[in-house]
Amino acid sequence: MVKLQEANSIIKIGTKYSMLSAAVIGALALAGCNQSTEQANTPAKTEQKNEGHATDKASGDTVTIYSSRNEQLIQPLLDEFTKETGIPVELVTDDSGPLMARLQAESTNTPADVLLTVDAGNLWQAGQQGLLQPIKSEVVNSNVPEKYRSVDDLWTGLSLRARTIFYDPAKVQPTELSTYADLADPKWKGKLCLRTSKKVYNQSLVASMIEHFGAKKTEEIVKGWVANLAAPVSSNDTKLLEAIASGQCQVGIANSYYYGRLLDENPKFPVKIFWANQGEGPEATGTHVNVSGAGIIKNSDNVEGARKLIEWLSSDTAQGKYASSDKEFPVKEGIDESDMLRSWGSFKQDDINVSIFGQRQAEAVQLMDRAGYE
Ligand code: FE
Repeated sequence: MVKLQEANSIIKIGTKYSMLSAAVIGALALAGCNQSTEQANTPAKTEQKNEGHATDKASGDTVTIYSSRNEQLIQPLLDEFTKETGIPVELVTDDSGPLMARLQAESTNTPADVLLTVDAGNLWQAGQQGLLQPIKSEVVNSNVPEKYRSVDDLWTGLSLRARTIFYDPAKVQPTELSTYADLADPKWKGKLCLRTSKKVYNQSLVASMIEHFGAKKTEEIVKGWVANLAAPVSSNDTKLLEAIASGQCQVGIANSYYYGRLLDENPKFPVKIFWANQGEGPEATGTHVNVSGAGIIKNSDNVEGARKLIEWLSSDTAQGKYASSDKEFPVKEGIDESDMLRSWGSFKQDDINVSIFGQRQAEAVQLMDRAGYE
């Protein structure tokens, strides 16, 4: 129902949208209803149209962002960008799937200039769907290491999140832990919690394992995980971490920032973080890291403003704040991490290009299905 209201509001924005047909609105509504919400612990995502910011590009240089990031966390940074550059920013917030469906439906009529979303798998999908154009920025290329950028320059990472192992320190010693693959060992039978395989985060993790270890070995690992499950798969990472805290399971895999949010609420939250795949040897591929990132919309009519905003978000000025606003790691090297992140210790990251998470996404989804990972 909310999505229908959104669709109606699109028509109200201006004559630019009057050509949207009822069929397109129906498709938008369906696309919206089929999406699950990404985060459990954040306020409901709502569309925000800042009054006073004209959507009509002819009258100004407003940069319109379609964002799946938490509006309350991103808005203060965007205000700072506007203050520094004089470029007004308009923020439209929704989940990644509905935003991409909307960009498809709006086509050349879109008011959007920038797509801001999480996971290289989602950014890659946006590129595949023809929604983005090359960023072409020397500033971004020098600020962001190549492995966190699209191989065809269609998007760039702006912050990092580690997807790693969490455990109950009352029952598990860190010396018992090592790799994602080790969680398939029968010693973890009835002790492992996993989030649903429908979530892009797990698709990206499995895609990276296929890249490192091949499909055959990865399928064996995923089957082992499924055999070790202590409970049905969780709908989100927060519930998974709470299941470890409550004793329902002893180990699990989750994104680092969800843990950071729980520690913010309760510094004594009884779960510990373990950096997976460290050390030496063929399994020591480094901990899986993914990005939040941005791309310039193919049909943007303010490409220059869009590029400036992405460059600014990748700069020294913004990187620390952008990353720490949601307990993430900066993508630019040499930027200070927050105290909480430093307290988790340093770790070796997986070095493969994050584009691979998208390239192998379909393969990963099929593999998890064959392995019985729901
Ligand atoms: Fe998330």
